[in-house]
Amino acid sequence: MVKYVRSIRGKRLLSVNGFTFYAKVVSGPKTRWSCSTHHYKGCHAVVHTIDDEVVKLINDHNHCLEMKYVTSRRGKQLLSVNDYTFCAHSLSGHKTRWICSTHNTKGCHAVAHTVGDEVVKLKNNHNH
Ligand SMILES: [Zn+2]
Ligand SMILES: [Zn+2]
Repeated sequence: MVKYVRSIRGKRLLSVNGFTFYAKVVSGPKTRWSCSTHHYKGCHAVVHTIDDEVVKLINDHNHCLEMKYVTSRRGKQLLSVNDYTFCAHSLSGHKTRWICSTHNTKGCHAVAHTVGDEVVKLKNNHNH
């Protein structure tokens, strides 16, 4: 999912599946976006847009989305990825399948799979 967001400083950013990109080179209608962690993590993911339309996307980040484990008010362990929370849905072996915590109320289909503490699959396509 691609959307335009504003940073706290009012700068326009591009958000692709929860990763944020900043405009690095602008030439006419063309913009080249770099991952916002480009500088301090050396991430080489890039996006090219023409008139706000994504024409090229190299979404191979060398880092994870901001994820952490949080505890709900009822004491349940939740997975939080970029401020979205996921509930553990099913376990099989070392793998845990997480579904968005709004799955039941909003019908959101975002899912995450973890093995140990690593996210191995992430469909961060929230409808909210
Ligand atoms: Zn990146
Ligand atoms: Zn969701």
